[in-house]
Amino acid sequence: MPENSDDFPWIFVKNVDNALSNLKNCEAYIVAGMQSVTNTALDLVVTQTDTGDDYNMENLMSEYVEMDRYLNQYITAVETTLNQVKDKNYLNLTPNLKVLVEEKLLALKNSNTEGDLKKDDRLVQFRKQLRDVKKQCGLPVDPTDDDSEEQIDEDMIVTQSQTNLICPITQLEMKKPVKNKVCGHTYEEEAIRRIIESKHKRNKKACCPKVGCSHTDVKLTDLVQDVVLGRAIENHRRMADSQNKQNH
Ligand SMILES: [Zn+2]
Repeated sequence: MPENSDDFPWIFVKNVDNALSNLKNCEAYIVAGMQSVTNTALDLVVTQTDTGDDYNMENLMSEYVEMDRYLNQYITAVETTLNQVKDKNYLNLTPNLKVLVEEKLLALKNSNTEGDLKKDDRLVQFRKQLRDVKKQCGLPVDPTDDDSEEQIDEDMIVTQSQTNLICPITQLEMKKPVKNKVCGHTYEEEAIRRIIESKHKRNKKACCPKVGCSHTDVKLTDLVQDVVLGRAIENHRRMADSQNKQNH
């Protein structure tokens, strides 16, 4: 058993780090899954396929959200354990890493509530998109949906459409907006990814590029696709295009 920090098994740490970054890549699959569930659910509404189906779509969506929560908590548990082990430098004992990770995961799980899941941004947006499309198609909207909540959502989207279509990095209208879960700002995916990667290569933290934001450690894993804003931008562009055509 190693007795001093020189013998610290960095290869082991490197392996765990690699495994972790593979795990973080899984998030992209979950996001892609959510996207296709959303698209399918919207298609079902538009084609007016049996309304029983979109209930299932919502269940599927919450399964994705739950999966994402589990993935993030697992990553957090492993990361904190790893940092703990690095700090202790394996002094006199080799800690049982599996137990340490499981303890942390359990603590995180115990802090979960069903309510968190229902209030998850992505689920709320999913339900709102379905409601909007149903209204556009002249279909009845589930009366249990809270109108006041919807009002807030719509206000939020109006504000967004006026101010947040522009990426704070490129100063251009975004094509693929991603939202930072921590500070709530949105950026062009490609642009923020480049900033984070180049900072991390130099072992620096990436500050949020939005003027006035105090968030100083933007991580790739904190970024989620902003589906609603993406659609708003798409609509905005389509409208601008058709106006251009009319003018020429
Ligand atoms: Zn920010």
